[in-house]
Amino acid sequence: MRLIACALMFSATIATSAQQKPIILHDAALVDGTGAQVRPHVDITIHKGYIDSVRPAFKEAPKNVEIVDCTGKTVIPGLISAHSHLGILLDNAAPSGNAYTDENVTKALNQFERYGVTTIVSLGLNRDLVYQLRDQQHEGKLGGTTILTAGRGIGVPNGAPGLDVPPAQIYRPANAEEARKDVAELAGHHADLVKLWLDSGHGKIPAMEPAVYTAIIEEAHKHHLKVAAHVYSLADAKSLINANVDILAHSVRDQTVDSGFAQSLIDHKIWYIPTLSLDEAFYLYAEDPDVMKSEFFQQAAGPQLLAKLQASDYAEKTIAAPQTEQAKKDHEIAMKNLKTLYDAGVNIAFGTDSGAVPGRIPGFTEHRELEDLVAARLTPLQAITLATGENGRLLHELNSKINVGLIKDGYSADLIILSGDPLMDIHNTHKIDAVYHHGVLVPNTPPHN
Ligand SMILES: [Zn+2]
Repeated sequence: MRLIACALMFSATIATSAQQKPIILHDAALVDGTGAQVRPHVDITIHKGYIDSVRPAFKEAPKNVEIVDCTGKTVIPGLISAHSHLGILLDNAAPSGNAYTDENVTKALNQFERYGVTTIVSLGLNRDLVYQLRDQQHEGKLGGTTILTAGRGIGVPNGAPGLDVPPAQIYRPANAEEARKDVAELAGHHADLVKLWLDSGHGKIPAMEPAVYTAIIEEAHKHHLKVAAHVYSLADAKSLINANVDILAHSVRDQTVDSGFAQSLIDHKIWYIPTLSLDEAFYLYAEDPDVMKSEFFQQAAGPQLLAKLQASDYAEKTIAAPQTEQAKKDHEIAMKNLKTLYDAGVNIAFGTDSGAVPGRIPGFTEHRELEDLVAARLTPLQAITLATGENGRLLHELNSKINVGLIKDGYSADLIILSGDPLMDIHNTHKIDAVYHHGVLVPNTPPHN
C-alpha cells in the first residue's frame, strides 16, 4: 500500500490525489484538531485529497478502498506554522543573500512536510519567486508544505528587521506614501497577508514611524488583507492594537501582560502568535545538548548546522554571550504571557519563526514549540489544538478557500499517523509513522528517535 502511494507521489504530487481510490485509516485513536478529547477506534476516509468521512471503525472491510491499519496509533491533523520563513539560510546553517532559490526553498518545503508540518505562512522576507511557487502548488506541479505568504514584508530603512537580507526580499519605505505603494504591490501579487516590523531593537535601531504603520494597516484593509506585526514590547503592541493590526506575530516579552491587555486583544479579535521557540533557539543547544542526540533532530538540522552547534567552543561561547541572558529572560516572560492570554480566551495561533536564523529548524522547531507550549502549562491537547484547528481558523480568515487543521468532512486530508500517544507525552509527536498531505502519502518520514 505504501509503495503504491509513493509511486503516485513521485509522478505528480498533489494532482494525483484526484485519481486515487479512497483510503481508510482504520481503527485509529483520533485527535481531530477541534480540542475535543481523543476518540478511540475511528475510521478516517480520505478521497480526492479531502477527508470524506470520520466514522466508528468498520467490522467488515469495504471493497475497492485502500486500507491502512492504524490500530494502536493516534492520528492528528498536519501541523500548521503561522510564522515561518523560507530562503534566508543555506543548509539551515548560515544566512545568505543567495539562499532564496527554487532549489533551496523547495528543499525546505519538503523538510517541513516530512516532519508533518503540512502548511506554513512564510511571514515576510520572501523574494517574489514565492508567488510562482505558490501558483505551482495550486496547479499540482510542486509538492512540499503548502505555502501562504506575506511576500517581502515591510521593514524600516536601517532598522528592523535587523537581518541582512537583500532589497528584493524586503520593502523598507521611507514614508507613508511609499508604504502604501508597497502594500498595493503586495495586493497585486495576491499576497495572503501583509507583514510589518515594529521594533526598535532595545532602542538601538530606528523604529517604524506611527504614520507609516498606520498607513500600511489602512491600505492593507482597503485591499482586504490582514496585517501581522513583528512586536517585542507591550507599548508597541498597544500602539498596534490602536492602529487596528490583526495579528501580533510574536510574544510581548519586555514585561508581563495583564487582563486589560488580554481584553483588548479579545475586543479587537486580534490573533497572538507566541513563537516561544524564537528566543530559546539562541541557547537551547548550548544549555541542553542532549536535544541534539536524536536522529529526529539531526536529520532536520543537516550536517552543516550540526557541525556548527557541536563545535567544541559553541556551548561556552553561547552561554557567555550577553544576548543569551536577554533571550532567557524574554523566553520566561513569553511563556508566562502566553498562559495569561490563553486562560483569558485570546485567539492564540501557533508559529515558530523557523527558517529565520540557524537553530530554528524547519519541521523540528514546530515539534519543539509544542513542547514549549506544554512547558508553559498548556496541556498537550491544548498545544496540538493551537497548531492545528486554531491555526486553521486563522488561515481561513486569511483565505476563505483554505480549510485545513481539522480532521473533519470536507477538510484537506492533511494528517499525521503517530505510533505514540501525544496526549500522554507531547514528545510522542516525534513518532511519525506517516504523513498525508492533501490525501497523498509523503515519502521519507523522519526517524522516530
Ligand atoms: Zn519572523
